[in-house]
Amino acid sequence: MKYKELAAVLNKMLTLRWSPVAVKLLKPGEEVPANVYEPSVPLRHCQAITIARRGNSLYMPPRKHACPDGAAIMGLIPMSPKLRSGELYLLFKKLPTIECAQKMIASRQEFEPGIYHATVLAPLEEAEFEPDVVIFTIYPEQMMWLCCAASYATGERHTFHTSGYNSTCADLTVQVMKNQEMNISFGCYGARAISDLSDFEAYMSVPFKQLSTLVEALKKLAVKSIPEARRKIYMPPVIDKTATPGDTAANQVELRIDEERCTGCGLCEAFCPEAVIKMTTVNDAAKASAPTAKNCCACYTCVGQCPQKAIQLTVR
Ligand code: SF4
Ligand code: SF4
Repeated sequence: MKYKELAAVLNKMLTLRWSPVAVKLLKPGEEVPANVYEPSVPLRHCQAITIARRGNSLYMPPRKHACPDGAAIMGLIPMSPKLRSGELYLLFKKLPTIECAQKMIASRQEFEPGIYHATVLAPLEEAEFEPDVVIFTIYPEQMMWLCCAASYATGERHTFHTSGYNSTCADLTVQVMKNQEMNISFGCYGARAISDLSDFEAYMSVPFKQLSTLVEALKKLAVKSIPEARRKIYMPPVIDKTATPGDTAANQVELRIDEERCTGCGLCEAFCPEAVIKMTTVNDAAKASAPTAKNCCACYTCVGQCPQKAIQLTVR
């Protein structure tokens, strides 16, 4: 799938606010891709991502990197002694002791200085280069679906490694390139202070080589899971009342199945985790019934799955 198609599917399945950003680190001597431009002023890596997700393609040699920490972490320049020692983290009051700062610095991933000579960034749909990583600026719900998509084929859970420091450079670029595993970041001091990252947004970075697999899994999830969860199909109609004090021991579930509406499709029986619903035959037609309603745990699955809206659940 071409980048444009990948971006279109991701946008459609996840309803993204921002374009995913293709990021590549260029080695010395590597050709600068077509249609990227050098910005007129230096930018931090997090700012370059902001500008790219808004539709611009950038070429960022070291002279255009405004954050010396980020540029050094990505192997574009040597790290300054104050950043290497952790002294600056103390001056910014971001960490309490030099030992603490050094521990944080030692545990993050970095590239050796000089192994790369520039970064290039573009909205995924416009990238004219094969990215190393693709960085999403997204909401937690969209992040959840990317996690589900990554688990879809393998069943693997995810282990994320992040710190709240050096967000887009260390956690989203270097680490993902080195480990070839997706990672999250909630931003860092620089990324929050200097970009338009909203309070409700965070980042997720995916190794480009995994993007097609992820997109295929998202297509499958978009058949049922994503739209149902977004429609909140299990939301009890009485949810606002559940916080009022009451006799919790005596809660009773009343389950009513409208025989007229029921077409006997059997979905409620198939989905009920407590085997409360059974299909019976009434006048030669299959109908749902709830002979053991006392076992109902009020999960609202049957209510949400019934295509006829034939099931009504009341919790007293
Ligand atoms: S899901 Fe609805 S229509 Fe289908 S059997 Fe159950 S009650 Fe009837
Ligand atoms: S609410 Fe849940 S447990 Fe109760 S009948 Fe429906 S699916 Fe079964």
